Amino acid sequence: MRLAKLIAVVVIVALFIQGCPKSKEQSSDMKITKESFGKTADGQAVDIYTIENANGMKAKITNYGAIVTELWVPDKDGKIADVVLGYDSLDDYIEATPYFGAIVGRYGNRIAKGKFMLNGTEYTLATNNDENHLHGGDVGFDKKVWGVAEVKSTNSVGIMLTYVSKDMEEGYPGTLMSMVTYALTNDNELKISYEATTDKDTVINLTHHGYFNLAGHNSGDILGHEVLMTADNMTPVDAGLITTGEIKAVAGTPWDFTEVHTIGERIKDVQGGYDHNYVLNNQDGSLALAVTVSEPTSGRVMEVLTTEPGMQFYTGNFLDGSNVGKGGAVYNLNNGFCLESQHYPDSPNKPEFPSCVLKTDDTYTQTTIYKFTTK
Ligand code: BGC
Repeated sequence: MRLAKLIAVVVIVALFIQGCPKSKEQSSDMKITKESFGKTADGQAVDIYTIENANGMKAKITNYGAIVTELWVPDKDGKIADVVLGYDSLDDYIEATPYFGAIVGRYGNRIAKGKFMLNGTEYTLATNNDENHLHGGDVGFDKKVWGVAEVKSTNSVGIMLTYVSKDMEEGYPGTLMSMVTYALTNDNELKISYEATTDKDTVINLTHHGYFNLAGHNSGDILGHEVLMTADNMTPVDAGLITTGEIKAVAGTPWDFTEVHTIGERIKDVQGGYDHNYVLNNQDGSLALAVTVSEPTSGRVMEVLTTEPGMQFYTGNFLDGSNVGKGGAVYNLNNGFCLESQHYPDSPNKPEFPSCVLKTDDTYTQTTIYKFTTK
């Protein structure tokens, strides 16, 4: 009798456990696979990783340039689409890219006239954007082959990329060791964690240069996307897109996204389109919500959270149809937008801005999350 009771209890408990929905932490549905993506001109082998979370959200990431080449996200009806602009092949990325999906560095964005002073020494960098330095120079981090390790936790799957930039590479002082981890979490986040150390004081500003179109990468312009930013101020720029040093209130200007506006509503009032750094309201280095973008037809919503003080909002103003992308998609003016979490442009020459100096005994860290939901 006792034994029968015990068996009954065991059976009931077993049935109960089986019937319980698996918690996200227990899920074994996360996947990661690796394929060859070809070779660089100097013979370095490049791979591409396909990462899938427990909800079927998927990313493809290559260790050439730490580029996110595809990002498949569900819409309000559960239909997935690839929401980032990019190419099908490694050769296309090598040939010419407006930094599609890459990690840019050592210094993302511009440094005026490619010069800066640090500890009493003047450093000279490549001037690869008219008279200015842009996104790390002629061969920035977006064109390097990174080391890779797969990383899995209970709630995420991803890859950790590493790159050692030699002392004086592209003119920057110090051997810089960078580590960038892309993780796809079961909360539908693409989480990017950065870390770097140096053996000589240097400047650093790493960011992710994904071009998003929440309707799908081949869906035309992004002017109907709705944007909300927690930024009361921005940094105005001169004709060469170099920050003037001023911190300007956005209230009453076409840069004001403290209430929801579509990208297209006032873009004609912004010469050249949006290509500006926003001064985020959160300046204490904690992870905070910076931007929410919604696309009304698909219902996709992207929230961007970051620890950085600034956010470059760039509306693909230099896309001109010359970039034939994935599946033959032609990317024209304003067909994608970037939200690049960062320190302010030209910080090495603007002591009034938050410092981008990395000292030998410090560790650079930054975290940015692109989180996807629907409404
Ligand atoms: C910059 C643009 C630049 C683009 C290059 C953005 O981060 O803000 O000015 O043209 O990168 O694709």
